[in-house]
Amino acid sequence: MPPATDDTVAALDELRREVESCTRCPLHATRTRAVFGEGDYGAELMFVGEAPGYHEDQQGRPFVGAAGKLLEELLASIGLTRQQVFIANVLKSRPPNNRDPRPEEIDACQPYLWRQIELIRPKVICTLGNHATKLLSRDQTGITRVHGKPRAMEISGVPLYLFPIFHPAAALYTPAMLATLKEDMARLPELLAYARGERPGAGAEEPGAGGEQPGAEPGRAGAGGERPAWRPAAAAPAAGQTPAADTLFAGAGAARPDDGSAWGPDPSQPSEPDTTDAGSEQLGLF
Ligand code: SF4
Repeated sequence: MPPATDDTVAALDELRREVESCTRCPLHATRTRAVFGEGDYGAELMFVGEAPGYHEDQQGRPFVGAAGKLLEELLASIGLTRQQVFIANVLKSRPPNNRDPRPEEIDACQPYLWRQIELIRPKVICTLGNHATKLLSRDQTGITRVHGKPRAMEISGVPLYLFPIFHPAAALYTPAMLATLKEDMARLPELLAYARGERPGAGAEEPGAGGEQPGAEPGRAGAGGERPAWRPAAAAPAAGQTPAADTLFAGAGAARPDDGSAWGPDPSQPSEPDTTDAGSEQLGLF
């Protein structure tokens, strides 16, 4: 991966300063330190967790407790270090007693994440656990159904693959979940190769290729919380797309219009049928 440009580094550093002094939601009053995220600003692989915990809040760094140690071990198992990826959370400030994030907190904080994605431009985002997965996939299907199944998407104008996996903190205490998490991680190198176009025939199948980009103005921190450009890659497959691309996109077939509704988990919405099984299998990756 080419390193981040000076402009990207400057923009992310500015965003970091904005996050560190943010008072957009009540969590600023109870946090010790905001946690912007860390890693390579030019990373092709990004991890997005839920929110800082106790140790993260104390140190101002993401994933530094036991879950962070496990994440580092998982990265090492595929030949990566945390310095080679970018690690962030949906919320940048710790909810008291590690309670679940509230919808209004996610609404307030999400523009920072969209801007991080827009600037870093990862090829693959691994969402860790339910909250991050539901927010980024814009789908209420739970992590136990969608883990390990890549989805071609476009977020903040960036074509990428979303790859949900279990949260390391949850896997720490559940051996079966840990085994599954290790299996899913082991698949990442192949997905990254595919996303780079290194797999035969993959070059014409960049996620989001050829389609329209409704709502193309990406969400920006400081812009009042508007949603990023988002669409399932299935929304507008390109004319002449290869069969492989068609089957890939079939995995994201629960296409929803970019309807301008509030972004984020909406408990009032029923879960949609899980259509990702067929797509990821037909993709031929796993
Ligand atoms: S959680 Fe996000 S929006 Fe709320 S104070 Fe922290 S940085 Fe700001």
